[in-house]
Amino acid sequence: MKEKDLCDLCGGELEHKKIDLEVHIQKELIICEDLPADICKQCGEKYFSADVSSKIDRFIKRYQKKKPSRYIPVPVFSGETVLK
Ligand SMILES: [Zn+2]
Repeated sequence: MKEKDLCDLCGGELEHKKIDLEVHIQKELIICEDLPADICKQCGEKYFSADVSSKIDRFIKRYQKKKPSRYIPVPVFSGETVLK
């Protein structure tokens, strides 16, 4: 892995951080906390290493067999409310 990668979208500098990833799977929403990623300081695009992204793919295929650390309530707003 190179130390100084730049954003593919805007050429901004990337910063290594732990982030929360939201994944929509059909009607379900799961959140994976504290994943190591590179985030663009300019546009906020997330980049995962090949290793992390293949582990995320593997996890998503079988997340239903895993026990979540916790549940959070997620408010849902209709488009009508958002655009009012
Ligand atoms: Zn960028």
